[in-house]
Amino acid sequence: MSQQQRMGQPMIILGEDSQRMKDEDAQSHNISAARAVAESVRSTLGPKGMDKMLVSSMGDITVTNDGVTILQEMDIDNPTAEMIVEVAETQEDEAGDGTTTAVAIAGELLKNAENLLEQDIHPTAIIKGFHMASEEARSEVDDIAERVDTEDEDLLRKVAETSMTGKGAESNKDLLATLIVDAVRAVTVEGPDGENVVDLEYVNIETQTGRAAGDSELLEGAAISKDPVHADMPSEVEDAKVLLIDEAIEIDEADADTSLSVDSPDQLQSFLDQEEEQIKAKVDEIVETGADVVFCQKGIDDLAQHYLAKEGILAARRVKKSDIGFLKEVLGARIVSDLDSATAEDLGTGTIRRDETDELFYVEGADDESHGVTLLLRGSTDHVVDELERGVGDALDVVAQAVSDGRVVAGGGAIEVEVARRLRDYADSVQGREQLAVEAFADAIELVPRVLAENAGLDPIDTLVDLRAAHEDGQSTAGLDVFTGDVNDTFDAGVVESAHAKEQALSSATEAANLVLKIDDIIAAGDLSTEGEEDEGPPGGGMGGMGGMGGMGGMGGAM
Ligand code: ADP
Ligand code: MG
Repeated sequence: MSQQQRMGQPMIILGEDSQRMKDEDAQSHNISAARAVAESVRSTLGPKGMDKMLVSSMGDITVTNDGVTILQEMDIDNPTAEMIVEVAETQEDEAGDGTTTAVAIAGELLKNAENLLEQDIHPTAIIKGFHMASEEARSEVDDIAERVDTEDEDLLRKVAETSMTGKGAESNKDLLATLIVDAVRAVTVEGPDGENVVDLEYVNIETQTGRAAGDSELLEGAAISKDPVHADMPSEVEDAKVLLIDEAIEIDEADADTSLSVDSPDQLQSFLDQEEEQIKAKVDEIVETGADVVFCQKGIDDLAQHYLAKEGILAARRVKKSDIGFLKEVLGARIVSDLDSATAEDLGTGTIRRDETDELFYVEGADDESHGVTLLLRGSTDHVVDELERGVGDALDVVAQAVSDGRVVAGGGAIEVEVARRLRDYADSVQGREQLAVEAFADAIELVPRVLAENAGLDPIDTLVDLRAAHEDGQSTAGLDVFTGDVNDTFDAGVVESAHAKEQALSSATEAANLVLKIDDIIAAGDLSTEGEEDEGPPGGGMGGMGGMGGMGGMGGAM
């Protein structure tokens, strides 16, 4: 590509392969890429949303309805598209649910922004208007939100059920919602100012294949999916003293690496004796602490296994780091990194039971110092359990938010239509072209009820008209019942969501859209052009061109 340098323009020094795109080209290119991503997840939104099957380059299959999972697995290598993926990740981190909503709104904001750009409205005005609308929308969400009584388990269960509707977890949502609410309540404590503090670190999710999801349960303490290292170890230890260790119970690395030349069988024997001594010494150190049970994060030498069994100590090795961390809370133990300095003080107390059929250790803490519950999720196959875990994880997050933040809103598009209505009122007070951007923002969030309708095979326009009419009429919790197609009070119907998740979805979608709109120049070190731009393609239809950055024709002349 030839570089052109004109008078008065800064000189541009770009490498042979680098390419550049400016102004409208850059904007429309970026908007298309971002929208393509947003559209790829739209069809999964809501209870009637479809699932996606993702096949990784290794051939691993994931079947999911979860926005962030889809985007993370999609192997997107377009910088703008990646910004949209980040929306999903932020939403997942901050709220745990609402990822599809956030991404879909970001895409719709950009679509509406494109219309404004075509009317020659400057990006700066759009960005400012979107920002104002987002602030206003969030304060409206807060105004509309119902305060929840955190003792109201019925309502909390509805929050859990709404989050699980349409997911793999749905078929057992009654049971799972109860387990989730119980789990959250088990780890809720009162903060210094009387507020609820929910520490989800004390809720562990453990999955098991082979049984029905309906057999899932909530356990006090931990469930560790490991086998004893030796067949002659006890399978149950009451009031056990438990050692948690994150170093291997093996010959020290340094010694094992030294090469050894043996001249005689005697020498070899003495070397082996020495190794045996070392192992024996380590086991003796464990015995001296008074431990009955050992959970080791690393390996345990065969010989050590034998000695431990002889001492009647139950041991498991290669326990996950996260499990060791969780056991620490459950048992009130300290994690030992060096056996030489281990003492009885480091041990935790609790009862260990072996479940042979499930190949699990149930570990229950002994005293009041014990924190932690385990949600044991069961399902027939890995794919079922994985999707169950994603759904339950999201629901756990939103129930925890409802308890700690104390605010919920009506779902099924109710909150979006109400906020949009109020935003249009607000727009009247906004001067200049920003007003158009605020209105465009209001239209964009109504994407949620439209897509919910679309995915349920209903007419999106009719639905939106009905919803708007109901809200004009003062029914601020009127939403779409996707199962009947009727507009009704979704709050009463039990479709209840975390207000915090909604606020977060609005702000992360706005931030991402504005980030994309601010870009007026793309300078890429490498080849930008592969395929044509994605346009109004059907949901998911844009995926093929995702790696491409759109046509770069005529670039030299544009500069
Ligand atoms: P996200 O990733 O954004 O959470 P979901 O696929 O979980 O996407 O869909 C969430 C949307 O589905 C929310 O707008 C929620 O109000 C709506 N929803 C959930 N359950 C129902 C229901 N029973 N009827 C109508 N809408 C529902
Ligand atoms: Mg959800």
